[in-house]
Amino acid sequence: MDNQPQDVSSWFENTMHNAIAKRASDVHIEPERDTLNIRFRIDGLLQQIEVLGNHLQDNIISMIKVMSNMNITERRLPQDGHFEFNYMNKVYNIRVSVLPSLYGETIVFRILNREDILIRLEGLGLLPDQLELVNKLISSSSGMVLTTGPTGSGKTNLLYSIIHALNKPNKNIITLEDPIEYQMTNIRQTQINESIGLSYVKAMRSVVRQDPDVVMLGEIRDVDTAQMAILATLTGILILTTFHTFDVPALITRFLEFGVTNSIIAQTIKGVISTRLVRKICDSCKEPYAIKELEKLDTYTRNLIEHHTTPINFQKGRGCDKCGNTGYLGRTGVFEVVYFDEEIKTCIIEYKLPSYISALIQRKKARSLRDAAMEKVFQGVTTIEEVSRVLGSRIG
Ligand SMILES: [Zn+2]
Repeated sequence: MDNQPQDVSSWFENTMHNAIAKRASDVHIEPERDTLNIRFRIDGLLQQIEVLGNHLQDNIISMIKVMSNMNITERRLPQDGHFEFNYMNKVYNIRVSVLPSLYGETIVFRILNREDILIRLEGLGLLPDQLELVNKLISSSSGMVLTTGPTGSGKTNLLYSIIHALNKPNKNIITLEDPIEYQMTNIRQTQINESIGLSYVKAMRSVVRQDPDVVMLGEIRDVDTAQMAILATLTGILILTTFHTFDVPALITRFLEFGVTNSIIAQTIKGVISTRLVRKICDSCKEPYAIKELEKLDTYTRNLIEHHTTPINFQKGRGCDKCGNTGYLGRTGVFEVVYFDEEIKTCIIEYKLPSYISALIQRKKARSLRDAAMEKVFQGVTTIEEVSRVLGSRIG
């Protein structure tokens, strides 16, 4: 802990520059017993950046509270706020969360409208056959397209890319978001604000009267929003939204629990895109390697390797200055795209069991998330270790 900063505000300025330059999505300021730890989330993983003495804690917290319009005297309750930060002629929106903890208040900044958020659909990492299916899904003039995945899996990013692709002068596109992560031109974006009563349901009710073609709905969490959204699709609107489930049968079950009938589900849901993010091998230090002990891999992965028809190009990052010796730099999406065709719709109408629907999807040879991720391993984009980290290891 040498080189302790003298001036808190220039320390803060430097830290924010550093975070943006390193492409961090979040900055953590975490009080421990004797220290104040600074960590950045880069490519989805936290990295320790700096350890300060805790004598700076009070000054830093007060400064940040003032900047984010928070109550400076409140230290026992969580607070949310935001501020804007200028860096290289670009304005960044920073969302701030303060949470009291054992050794003082923990602060987390989320850096919004980062450069890496808005990318074209073609640049997300969809395999060619999947991109074709996604384009087919989003060309529907009504109905619902869902993206699923855990927090930080790239599902909002995917929705932004879809909106970007649909953004034409002849379309009225409205988004309901919490928070607005990226500002887009020619799109009407509304910030959901529960504290003043502007909930998803309430906003949705008004949006349908705004003559929209496409509505991006941040997420479906409750019965009212689910039913509202389904009703809207029946009036000829294409709804894009996110949902917290892990597979298609679970999603169907959830909608049934929300009181949506099976025939309406079959009629309105066009398809589901599941997504995860995997780290890419650093281009500056990647080198080919051969897997020596194939028998140590699980059967599923071994099968994929043995039955792969095109040449396999295993690569690994040695670690260099550019990637902070991690061997990885940047991330790419991996996807599973399920198009609800007649066969799947019939299953839903006939109340087939979840296991039956899962088997049907597998039979259709739609690539699963793991298949899509392994394809990226074979192309030398990522590693087997990274796939296991993100999707879990397979046993047997
Ligand atoms: Zn490297």
